[in-house]
Amino acid sequence: MSLTKVAVVTGSNKGIGYAIVKGLCEKFDGKVYLTSRDEGRGQVAINELKKLGFNPAFHQLDIDDEESVVKFRDYIKAHEGGIDVLVNNAAIAFKSNATEPTGIQAEVTLKTNYFNTLRACEILFPILRPNGQVINLSSYLGHLSHIQSPELRAKLSDPSLTKEQLSELMNQFIQDAKNGVHIERGWGNFTYSVSKVGLSALSIIQQKELDKENKNISVNFVHPGYVGTDMTDFKGPSTIEQGASAPVFLALGGHNLKGQFVWFDSSVVDW
Ligand code: NDP
Repeated sequence: MSLTKVAVVTGSNKGIGYAIVKGLCEKFDGKVYLTSRDEGRGQVAINELKKLGFNPAFHQLDIDDEESVVKFRDYIKAHEGGIDVLVNNAAIAFKSNATEPTGIQAEVTLKTNYFNTLRACEILFPILRPNGQVINLSSYLGHLSHIQSPELRAKLSDPSLTKEQLSELMNQFIQDAKNGVHIERGWGNFTYSVSKVGLSALSIIQQKELDKENKNISVNFVHPGYVGTDMTDFKGPSTIEQGASAPVFLALGGHNLKGQFVWFDSSVVDW
């Protein structure tokens, strides 16, 4: 079995994930996996990086497809032995002019950004190696202050909150959105924001759970800045390389942070 270190970036055929792979190819002492839910789009990205002189590995990975995640886990376990760096970057966002009802937007957005990211972690965490780094791509919209209700904020930031209770809260938001009462219940009106607040809260819980294993594994969550990508219709002023900067910094073990909300300039922000 190879003792080479292994980094994996989900949803890395484009945007910030692609730039994280590029940055890791430059700086990470190990093998970097570019993953994509679509084999073709993944291969195009691999070829682009090869033209730049980099040599990432590729594997198909769709976090919405449990079988795909299990296949990927089994492949990495068999061929690499484990994962040292896991960057949970894959996510979706509805456009501001989307016409789908809020309840549907809430269900679809939380499915990928919260529930299926959580499931991918449950499948992949068992093969994380000691001293590993997990980096969850949150957002400034994943800051707790974006939840209007003080009661909900208290629940989401309760130090004793479990994954199961957090998932119940996320399901409650979907139900409230479907019933059209999410604003009066204090969630705010932005489903993407709730999905990222959920991911932020999850990161803190994941850190606590991993601490119990005594393997010195870090979980941090990042706001990459407002970045020009498909997700933002290229309105964000930052480049994808700037967006990749803090995730790459953390992947390299930057400041040995644990369970922290990390800003695009790699500073720590109170969640
Ligand atoms: P993009 O929309 O440009 O890229 C998203 C990537 O995720 C694509 O590769 C996409 O694949 C992939 N993806 C989506 N769903 C899945 C899935 N089910 N399985 C695997 N891959 C999937 O987004 P950004 O690069 O802008 O965003 C990257 C991360 O940064 C996200 O988590 C986002 O929420 C976060 N973020 C971005 C900000 C910004 O300003 N851009 C600001 C704050 C946070 P495909 O090409 O197949 O669609």
